[in-house]
Amino acid sequence: MEVLRSIFNCGPRRLWTSGSSDKNKAMVEQLERYGIVQSKRVKEVMEAIDRALFVPAETRSPYYDSPMPIGYNATISAPHMHATCLELLEKNLQPGMRALDVGSGTGYLTACFAMMVGPQGCVVGVEHIPDLVSFSIDNIKKSVAEPLLNGDSLSIHAADGRQGWPELAPYDAIHVGAAAPEIPQPLLDQLKPGGRMVIPVGTVFQELKVVDKNLDGSISVRDETSVRYVPLTSKAAQLNAY
Ligand code: SAH
Repeated sequence: MEVLRSIFNCGPRRLWTSGSSDKNKAMVEQLERYGIVQSKRVKEVMEAIDRALFVPAETRSPYYDSPMPIGYNATISAPHMHATCLELLEKNLQPGMRALDVGSGTGYLTACFAMMVGPQGCVVGVEHIPDLVSFSIDNIKKSVAEPLLNGDSLSIHAADGRQGWPELAPYDAIHVGAAAPEIPQPLLDQLKPGGRMVIPVGTVFQELKVVDKNLDGSISVRDETSVRYVPLTSKAAQLNAY
């Protein structure tokens, strides 16, 4: 009897400790040890949104720190890039704030943003591949961000993200998940004074730029780190492998 009890007690617990959410937590703890995850809010949101729900089902190691193919010549960014962008935007993702995610792909960061700004805030994803828009919405529906999809606080649209999403501008935070040859003017226009945009810029050599719109409307830009993203381009160019 004791043996049976220990099987029943231990069985589920062993399964649980090797479950998906624990591996996600281990990934976040690793990012914290490396100093990439720094704030409590970024840690909490990355723990809450299980990355495995956002990578294609056939991906063997969803928590591996590397970009991974998601079809259509696109990739989901590596966990350390997601964490870096979340940290850079953390002050502009306070409850009630407004965020735009251009090239939202799998919807992972869009979901993180939505959790951070909460039901009083508003997050818009813009992705130009309609199948990825449906994929991202399905992914979010499996995650803890699902209730936000039913209100006005989280939406994802199939459109050219180089034009931003003027209907809900201005934004406190803009994230661009694909590398632009230069910073698109519509995105600068849609940034709120006091707002911040994080955008990879360049072709072969790319820099992750942090663009702050000051309260007087002037713009400050700095380079955060060298990166390698898929291009922010036309749908035709992307589907023809650039
Ligand atoms: N942050 C996303 C990144 C996906 S890769 C993630 O981690 O899941 C970059 C995405 O940008 C791709 O899904 C690609 O289809 C999209 N993209 C590229 N150019 C675009 C454009 N002009 N408008 C909208 N989306 C674009």
